[in-house]
Amino acid sequence: TYLTPQTPCPVRPGDADSALLRGEWLPWIDGRISARAGRKLLPVLDPATDRELGIVHLADEEDVDAAVGAATRAFESWSETPGRERARLLWAWAELIERHAYELAALDVLENGMPARQALAYVHWAADTIRETSGWATKLTGLTSDQGPGLFAHTLRVPVGVVGTICPWNAPAAGFLRQITPALTAGCTVVGKPSELTPFTALRVAELAAEAGLPPGVLNVVPGVGSVAGEHLANHHGIARINFTGSTATGRRIVEASATNMKRMTLELGGKSPDIIFDDADLPAAVVGAAAGIFTNAGQVCVAGSRLFVQAGCYDEVVERLQQEARRFTVGPGFEPASDIGPLISTSQRLRVQGHVDGAVEDGATVVLGGRSADADWNVNENFYQPTIIADVTPDMRIAREEVFGPVVNVVRFGDEEEALALANGTEFGLAGGLWTQNLSRAHRFTRRVRAGMLWVNCYGAWATSLPHSGQKQSGYGAKYGFQAVAEHTEERTVLMKL
Ligand code: NAD
Repeated sequence: TYLTPQTPCPVRPGDADSALLRGEWLPWIDGRISARAGRKLLPVLDPATDRELGIVHLADEEDVDAAVGAATRAFESWSETPGRERARLLWAWAELIERHAYELAALDVLENGMPARQALAYVHWAADTIRETSGWATKLTGLTSDQGPGLFAHTLRVPVGVVGTICPWNAPAAGFLRQITPALTAGCTVVGKPSELTPFTALRVAELAAEAGLPPGVLNVVPGVGSVAGEHLANHHGIARINFTGSTATGRRIVEASATNMKRMTLELGGKSPDIIFDDADLPAAVVGAAAGIFTNAGQVCVAGSRLFVQAGCYDEVVERLQQEARRFTVGPGFEPASDIGPLISTSQRLRVQGHVDGAVEDGATVVLGGRSADADWNVNENFYQPTIIADVTPDMRIAREEVFGPVVNVVRFGDEEEALALANGTEFGLAGGLWTQNLSRAHRFTRRVRAGMLWVNCYGAWATSLPHSGQKQSGYGAKYGFQAVAEHTEERTVLMKL
């Protein structure tokens, strides 16, 4: 059902019209839009044009308190709702999301800027993930242990409580949905905070959840800024667990805040993922995969393969092919059928990316391709950034160490396996990585030794949502996806019963 670049995308700007008509977007608390005077207002801008798309009423501490209150009340019954009923409701919600896929994708294009076919694929993917994950609601079993005839010992899996989720802007619908689905499946209720830059789809999917029959208070959405709504959520005593996706710097603050009541947490943080091409790789396939691995979503992807390591024997050929491949990416607005890369999320993000590239040049690196905003043919702003290839990067440079979160790849030459391994692991991050080789033994050696939570061999960016993905090192911890993610929203209680 997913669209490939060759398939014309049916999503049009008008698909978002009915949702945008409201003009003002308010927090969703206790199963309804929550109107109240005194909130700060923030315009939501189209990152491609800076056009105002609507106004978001920023949730503040009072809203977070109200949402946690509603979620706490709803927890009483949602946690006791049989797993098959939770699964049925979540499945119905996924069906509604699918039915509104064009609308949600159009909203994602408008608020985030991504190409429409990618936005649509994300929405379908999110609906699939809800269906797949919700199936675990009926399979949350415990253990029994033989203690002899006088004592019965077993464990009960109980949902952990109210879960706060905090989300970035880079994949608004899918990112929000994948954070909350394991919680709802496990019987937890949720207070979700989307990024203030991209609040639309989170608020729309909450309305759809109510339409699908999820009881009031089970899913609440507080679209506020990080320093107010986010911090209050992370500090809140009514929150048992935080699922945070965002930068490592913010993740550190969340960990500190969570100490107030020993919150459990999943942290999905930044990355600087290595992608390694060996001489023996299928080079055309490797280059296509490596380019998609960094340029998709304008590089605003946590698992982006931003450090490309290429073995000396194929280095020149790969750099040449990579330039050709990068030139094939059309940089343009999300609703243009030809667009492969949309704008960066904001002017400040563009300036950040440019600062990284300029800094790399000052440090002695060479820009092989790109390195500045694209000359877009459409009536758009400067947030469109060219696919950028940087060579002559050494491990001590800032561009080698820090996450750029833009369509910028470093290409580095290596000699042998040991050097490639040292380069790949020479980072504080450990989110993902790629490996291109025909040598099966080498593939096994590397998947054992590269310290990252997801490794792709002869592909990049494929996903198996039945299996967990956890960050390693400073990329975070805690499982996303699969049974493990659902189980992490429960606590196992041991019961000993004298017979
Ligand atoms: P960010 O850390 O600035 O913000 C993320 C979220 O945290 C936003 O909702 C923001 O409002 C909130 N926030 C900010 N300060 C806060 C505070 N003090 N307390 C509580 N909440 C606060 O990140 P961003 O710029 O929105 O997103 C980009 C980052 O997200 C990148 O580092 C990227 O790698 C990461 N990311 C990681 C994954 C993953 O799965 N590991 C996925 C997507 C994005």
